[in-house]
Amino acid sequence: MPRTALVGRMREFGTTIFAEMSALATETGAINLGQGFPDTDGPAAVLDAAVEALRGGRNQYAPGPGVPELRQAVAEHQRRVYGFDYDPGTQVLVTAGATEAIAAAILALCEPGDEVVCFEPYYDSYAASIALAGAVRRPVTLRAPVEPGGRYTFDPAELWGAVGPRTRLLLLNSPHNPTGTVLTRDELATIAEVCRDHDLLALTDEVYEHLVFTDAAAGGHVSLAELPGMAERTLQVSSAGKTFSVTGWKVGWVCGPADLVAAVAQVKQFLTYTNAAPLQPAVAVGLGLGAGYFTAFRDRLQAQRDQLCAGLAEAGFGVFTPAGTYFVTCDIRPLGGTDGMEFCRSLPERCGVVAVPTQVFYDDAEAGRHLVRFAFCKRPEVLAEAVSRLRRL
Ligand code: PMP
Ligand code: GLN
Repeated sequence: MPRTALVGRMREFGTTIFAEMSALATETGAINLGQGFPDTDGPAAVLDAAVEALRGGRNQYAPGPGVPELRQAVAEHQRRVYGFDYDPGTQVLVTAGATEAIAAAILALCEPGDEVVCFEPYYDSYAASIALAGAVRRPVTLRAPVEPGGRYTFDPAELWGAVGPRTRLLLLNSPHNPTGTVLTRDELATIAEVCRDHDLLALTDEVYEHLVFTDAAAGGHVSLAELPGMAERTLQVSSAGKTFSVTGWKVGWVCGPADLVAAVAQVKQFLTYTNAAPLQPAVAVGLGLGAGYFTAFRDRLQAQRDQLCAGLAEAGFGVFTPAGTYFVTCDIRPLGGTDGMEFCRSLPERCGVVAVPTQVFYDDAEAGRHLVRFAFCKRPEVLAEAVSRLRRL
């Protein structure tokens, strides 16, 4: 009998779609619009600060909660952007990317059997972290618009229906990967009401907080923590990867009430203890850059979004223009496709481009079967070449 090494609770997950599709891109030499990583480096000041730290002897373990200047910079950033007054000593914890922050928070806050309400399509690490904790996910579907031009949104009745006596935590990602939807204040108000009503804790993944485009219906990014009665029950998570185009650095953070942050720190210390000591001060420099950096970054990504969306529409996809993030989702049915997974597995061979099927981010696979995601965090000439290839479809 073959031996099954992997614990039962992890067996459903397999290899992440990002690794599968990036490997396919490498194998076939296709343009990789699958995994969301930029093909240019971040701001020179941030890179220079990292080099300086590496050369300046900052190569041993950072303090468990993170280097003081990064905790201070995160607290100042949260004050400037959200008006929160976190104590960098007790209310800010540096983590190995947002991924570790989310995993440690779920492991710290959920008992086996507790339920976590999240929105699907969900970022794949959520489901795995919930399973690792022995908790149970209760997804609420963000439904694709019927017509291109609409927004992905949820039915409040489905959200209320997903919450029960075992629900402990609500996990929210806005701006949302993979749909690019940015929740409006009204939608957030409904979510906040559910949290208050059922006395839930909230965990907000805000890694795309600086990528809300100027034409977003939501107007801008609002954190769930900003809504009445939410600051005292919400852990905000973000990371440097997206905002500073350094996805390989894996420097993230979590902020919130001191007792919740202490619980996360308790778990985090046994996952990684600390990480990326010389990169942490560099991220502090990034967070301190002037407003000009953040708006120029958003404007650049918005132009890339417009370029790719126009190209995808010309190629025949049904395009759901995103209000934020690195990603656009498309309906493949106008091109004769029915299954996104099949479509993405054959796309490199058909035209030399890689995309990601979003059905893998749903429990209700039918809701996402016809949808695929393209990343536009790539140089305009790369997007132009990808579009010219896709037009051959
Ligand atoms: N959450 C979302 C929604 C993401 O798209 C990503 C990918 N960057 C992460 C979390 C993981 O972030 P990090 O690389 O900082 O762990
Ligand atoms: N966040 C990136 C994406 O959604 C990639 C993350 C990963 O490879 N795990 O594409």
